[in-house]
Formats: sequence, structure tokens, C-alpha cells
Amino acid sequence: MRILVISDIHANLTAFETVLADAKGEWDFVWCLGDVVGYGPDPNECVELLNTLPHLCLAGNHDWAALGRLDIRTFNPDARRAVEWTQETLKPQNVAYLEALPVTFVIGDYTLVHASPREPVWEYILEPLVAALNFPHFETPYCFVGHTHQPVIYELYSDNGDTRTREPHYRQAFALDKKRQIVNPGSVGQPRDQNPDAAYAIVDLEKETFEHRRIPYAIPEVQKRMRQYKLPERLVTRLEHGW
Ligand SMILES: [Zn+2]
Repeated sequence: MRILVISDIHANLTAFETVLADAKGEWDFVWCLGDVVGYGPDPNECVELLNTLPHLCLAGNHDWAALGRLDIRTFNPDARRAVEWTQETLKPQNVAYLEALPVTFVIGDYTLVHASPREPVWEYILEPLVAALNFPHFETPYCFVGHTHQPVIYELYSDNGDTRTREPHYRQAFALDKKRQIVNPGSVGQPRDQNPDAAYAIVDLEKETFEHRRIPYAIPEVQKRMRQYKLPERLVTRLEHGW
């Protein structure tokens, strides 16, 4: 079975559709690592498209923000405005979908969370030191995370907890090899690694291979809808810069 691994769609339907078109025929099931909504102009459309696919999905911090589960006074003004707009816009059935999302999921050799195994909704794993602290918090060989919007792999390579970073080699499948790894596919709808292209990954469960991918999408179409809905300009322009 082949898995399409996606994360941080962030209500960007154009990026989501582009990823699905690019990966067409190459997967059997979808693992979505959360933040389906927040920031972007298409929260209902993204939840509804995801629901047409055979999938499982984890809860992200922006999904929880849209549900009013978080105190958004700690968010910056732009993020807060986007959360409020998302809350006003989401249909009740899509709110119900987000309410039912789990925070962790273990399937075979894979642990799935939005943020980190020890803080599944919150923690940003942005460096090997933080990754190292997280390896004791899951039991499977592999843990898939999103949240940072940066495609990367952290590999544990010694019994002392030494952890190294492996940068993605796009469209080159590699053997996971039972080495303990924390793997981030990157973000579909709001990449933050200075590359504006949508990110996703393909896993082959039988071959135990993993492949990072990028694909450009029509960013101006998304920006047009964001301006139409008066979403903050800073959130509109960041899409074309990838931060
Ligand atoms: Zn996110």
C-alpha cells in the first residue's frame, strides 16, 4: 500500500488540488498530519475535498483554534484575524469533522502527530536537539510530523541519542531501513522554507520507502481569493515567498 502524506494544507484549495493531481494514481490512502484550516481562503472546500478521499487525519493547532479550543489572544494580530474569519466561515458539518480529529495515531511502524510526539499539538521540531528529546516519546521506528512547514528528516544514529538532520532529496525514494526517524513532509498550503512550492510525500509501506516531493501551484489564484475575503495582506504575500 502506498500512502500520500500531507500536512498543513491551511485552507489552500489550489495547492491541495495541485498536489492531488501531481500524485494521481500513485497512492492508495492519505495520511494528513493536521492544520487543514487556518490562514487560507478555502477552509470548507479543503475539509470537504479531504473527506472525499480514503484518509485519516490528525488535529493541528490551527484546527483547534478554529474550534475555539485555544486562547487566540496569544496569536499575532494577522493570525488572529485569520482564525476569526475561519470561525465565521466554517460550516457546522466541517466544524464537527475537525472536532473529531485525534491528536496521535499509531499504525504499524508509524506514529503520526501534528507537532511532536511529546507535545502532539504544540511543539516545533526545528533542530536535531529538539528531535533528540522526542525519540523517547514514541515506540515505533518512525514518527511523521508537520507543524513547522519545513520538509526534513531527523535520524537517531547512536544509542546516546545523537540525532542528525537530513535535507530532502526531492523525487528520490529512499529506504527507511528501520532506522529511528522523525520525518516531516513539509506543508501543502503554506511552505516556510523559502520555497513557495507545495510539499508532500509518498510512502510505500511494503517497500518501506519514503519520497519528498515539491510542485508549483497557481499562487495568484489563492491570493486573489484571500484579498476578496480581506484576509491580512501579510498572509497573502508570504505565500509567494515561502516563509
Ligand atoms: Zn500549520
